[in-house]
Amino acid sequence: AIELREVSKRFGDAYAVRRVSLTVEPGEFLVLLGPSGCGKSTVLRMIAGLEDITEGELFLGGEPASDVLPRERDIAMVFQNFALYPSMTTRENIGFPLRLRDPSTNHEHQVRATARMLAIEDLLERLPAQMSGGERQRVAMGRAISRRPSVFLLDEPLSSLDAKLRSHLRAEIARIVAELGVTTVYVTHDQAEAMSLGDRVAVMRDGVLQQASAPRDLYARPANVFVAAFVGTPR
Ligand code: ATP
Ligand code: MG
Repeated sequence: AIELREVSKRFGDAYAVRRVSLTVEPGEFLVLLGPSGCGKSTVLRMIAGLEDITEGELFLGGEPASDVLPRERDIAMVFQNFALYPSMTTRENIGFPLRLRDPSTNHEHQVRATARMLAIEDLLERLPAQMSGGERQRVAMGRAISRRPSVFLLDEPLSSLDAKLRSHLRAEIARIVAELGVTTVYVTHDQAEAMSLGDRVAVMRDGVLQQASAPRDLYARPANVFVAAFVGTPR
């Protein structure tokens, strides 16, 4: 599990995140939803260890996160602008985290299994510049999950793609995450995306967690007017 206890993050004088308490259960798909600037990426970056926590505590698998170095956290992260290594092919990009962990083994089998899962087996010899945005984002996901992390963090992974591709990849992500059974935190400001993907959706505003509930409970019992307006009504 990932557990945040009263976690805050301050940049200078301004709080980006205020006293957020939240537990993500093993295997759960949690979506962080809220408007631009509300602190979603900051929460994700603290979980990944890319950002220090100003106040509060974070536990990963029951251990205080401060005891686990960021690179030792069994966490993979995918960003909006999928920074693939430009001089590496798809095969090399997907295999990179595996080689890093275990340089002496041939990882072709795992690379192929990952590529199959993402339906990019035909793209293994391509460089990032030779692929579309949607294909590159698949490769970025492949690279993130090839070593089968126990936690998968995604920060607006679809926001640079067109609407059709977005809904297609959204379904793919749901399938892959279910197949891996990996604990997932997914950041978006798109309520439709949040409500369709999340086991639970955590709504944030101005750094403050407003409510974390199953989608149907957010619709049925919003905690306040902001949540009600932001999640809207079911489509
Ligand atoms: P978006 O949907 O636009 O990505 P977000 O919810 O991910 O927004 P964050 O990136 O977490 O928002 O930022 C939360 C707040 O913290 C914002 O007001 C932002 O300006 C501020 N902030 C984020 N990173 C820094 C930083 N390194 N230094 C100073 N302020 C920062
Ligand atoms: Mg962000």
